[in-house]
Amino acid sequence: MAQDRKKVLVLGAGYAGLQTVTKLQKELSAEAAEITLINKNEYHYETTWLHEVSAGTINYEDLLYPVEKTVNKNKVNFVVAEVTKIDRNAKRVETDKGVYDFDILVVALGFVSETFGIDGMKEHAFQIENVLTSRKLSRHIEDKFANYVASKDKDDRDLSILVGGAGFTGIEFLGELTDRVPELCSKYGIDQNKVKLTCVEAAPKMLPMFSDELVNYAVNYLEERGVEFKIATPIVACNEKGFVVEVNGQKQQLEAGTSVWTAGVRGSHLMEESFEGVKRGRIINKQDLTIDGHDDIFVVGDCAAFIPAGEERPLPTTAQIAMQQGEHVAMNIKHMLNGEPTQDFQYVNRGTVCSLGAHDGIGIVYGRDISGKKAAFLKKVIDTRAIYKLGGVGLAFKKGKF
Ligand code: FAD
Ligand code: NAD
Repeated sequence: MAQDRKKVLVLGAGYAGLQTVTKLQKELSAEAAEITLINKNEYHYETTWLHEVSAGTINYEDLLYPVEKTVNKNKVNFVVAEVTKIDRNAKRVETDKGVYDFDILVVALGFVSETFGIDGMKEHAFQIENVLTSRKLSRHIEDKFANYVASKDKDDRDLSILVGGAGFTGIEFLGELTDRVPELCSKYGIDQNKVKLTCVEAAPKMLPMFSDELVNYAVNYLEERGVEFKIATPIVACNEKGFVVEVNGQKQQLEAGTSVWTAGVRGSHLMEESFEGVKRGRIINKQDLTIDGHDDIFVVGDCAAFIPAGEERPLPTTAQIAMQQGEHVAMNIKHMLNGEPTQDFQYVNRGTVCSLGAHDGIGIVYGRDISGKKAAFLKKVIDTRAIYKLGGVGLAFKKGKF
């Protein structure tokens, strides 16, 4: 019997990978399969809270917890290792700690920041990508405020922050900054009027998925708290002084002590190296979340470009979708192990909330526009629910937002 156990290998313990594993361990007996989860850190982190760590409104410890707390050791072998190669034809994955064979593979390696090859962006701008990049950013911002106070020749650029891209990440990060700046000013005795927060966005309209009313609400909220928006202003380069933007065909230098790039993400770089037909780290799935030519390889979360039947564009990259895909893949693996056909994935869109700091926000929930404290409250419910789904009641009480 033991020899017949299929090897199920899950790569990545983010929302998609961890949800796959926690669902699998609920659904399968220990004898049903040999499940291995590989993740480069011993911890899982709430990627959806990274803007808070980046601004310094929460500590980095608040958004991470050990993967071991969520996995059943009798059913899942958890390995801390970095995946370095996926050999899809040999059905083998290489890591810095050894090689793992698989019968069924789930690729859930998540996202990295995408700078679109913009000159100097990788070198000079901060990114909101993982726990380490976010810690680095919040420390840098605070260091700049401290430096401003300590230095004789005050440099106003120390109190200037440029945020490139007014997508969800940029807006949520700015919302946190409007909470954090008054704290920092009070801690270091700085006049808040000296702080400059500037958001630079290439498109003429921000957050196109929201109504004009909601976008105006967010813009007004942030402007009242000191954010200046430069819309229809593409960033074309980044250097040690800040962003270079293009306005009416002319290049302009925007100066700041902190430049943050929040203008896009892509799937893991391993995707291009491992599969064909990958664009920006994402591969188009079949309807059951496997990929063309490989009925035993599932790709989920931000590495997947799932196009619902009858539609033309892939779903966006969100934690909500990653978790639903993780659950679905676990059920499909169960079907495969039972010799049953796999099922097509159906995404249930419950809505989207964009926070504006801890106490405000905008959103669409079950088709209805919401804003203000109600939106902020719902965002906290969504954040806590994600922990509950992955780690159960105990972890939700310990780590959730109450
Ligand atoms: P990830 O969460 O990126 O997890 C990937 C995992 O794989 C990580 O644990 C990583 O360490 C691991 N890994 C990566 N490479 C390797 C390797 N080579 N070897 C081993 N392990 C590896 N979405 C929402 O729905 N709602 C929100 O409110 C929301 N807020 C967000 C806020 C911010 C600031 C950001 C940046 C994103 C937000 N998103 C939100 C998007 C959401 O976070 C992503 O869509 C989601 O994290 C994707 O989940 P995933 O499991 O595919 O990848
Ligand atoms: P995004 O791609 O959604 O937004 C990037 C923004 O940057 C866009 O407005 C784009 O026009 C702008 N941009 C691109 N190039 C630019 C340039 N050269 N100069 C100036 N602006 C430029 O990226 P994101 O905000 O990082 O979000 C990534 C994914 O994560 C999305 O799918 C998003 O839905 C998801 N997310 C969701 C939430 C939430 O649900 N609350 C929060 C954060 C992220």
